[in-house]
Amino acid sequence: AQRPYIVGNWKMHGTRAMLSEARAIDRAAERLLKAEVALAPPFTLIHATRKEASLIGVGAQDCHPAEGGAHTGDISAPMLKDAGAGFVIVGHSERRADHGETDAVVKAKADAALAASLGVIVCVGETEEQRDAGKAEEVVGNQLKGSLPEAAGMIEKVTVAYEPVWAIGTGRTPTVEDVGAMHRSIREQLNAIYGDDGAEIRILYGGSVKPSNAAELLAADEVGGALVGGASLTAEQFLGIIVAAA
Ligand code: 13P
Repeated sequence: AQRPYIVGNWKMHGTRAMLSEARAIDRAAERLLKAEVALAPPFTLIHATRKEASLIGVGAQDCHPAEGGAHTGDISAPMLKDAGAGFVIVGHSERRADHGETDAVVKAKADAALAASLGVIVCVGETEEQRDAGKAEEVVGNQLKGSLPEAAGMIEKVTVAYEPVWAIGTGRTPTVEDVGAMHRSIREQLNAIYGDDGAEIRILYGGSVKPSNAAELLAADEVGGALVGGASLTAEQFLGIIVAAA
C-alpha cells in the first residue's frame, strides 16, 4: 500500500511567525517517514516555507487557469512552481462558495497545474442539505466528472480530496462507514473516468480531522490520507495526526 498522504491546508492563516511550525513539522517528518507529509501555506509563505522545510512537500491553495496575463491579484501555476510549490489544491469548497468557482473553472485550474508539472489536489464534497436529501454520492460524482483534469501520462500527480462541506471546521465528521461508502463510490468514478489509471489516485478525507479521530478515519475503505485544516496550524496537533496515520 502507498504511504498515507497527510496534507495541511493553512487557509488564510499564517505570517512569517508561523514558519517555526513548518520547521518543527519538517524536523519531525524525518522520524515519521511512514507518511508523506505536505503543507499548503498562503501564497505569501510558499517560498519561505520551501526554504525552511526540506523534507515535506509545499504547495498552494489555488491557482489561476491561465499561464499569465491581465488578471490583477491572481497567481498562475508556473508562478507557484517558480516560488517552490510542488502541488496546488483546487476546487476547495471555500473557493467554490466564496468565489463562485464552477466545476469547469476547477477543471481548468487542475489542467493548468498539470501543464506546469505541479501535483494537483482536486476537492469535492456535498453540503449538509445535499446529504440529507440522499444526494451526496450523486453530487460528488458530478463534481468529479466536471472537475478532474485530463491526466494522460500524469496520473501520479493527481489526488482527490473528499471534504463534506458540513464537516469542515465544525468538529463533526461522517461515520467511518459513511466515509468508506463515499470513498468506494469515488474510486468507482475514478475508474470510470481514467480506466485502469483510476486505481492509482489517492483519495484523501478532509473535515475536522484531529489527532483523536485520525486513526479511525484513515482506516476507512479507500482512504489514502487526510487534508487537514485547523489541526495543521500547530506542529503539535499536525504531528499527532501524522503519528496516528503512520
Ligand atoms: P478543518 O480540518 O479545519 O475541518 O478543515 C478541513 C479543510 O477544509 C481542509 O482543506
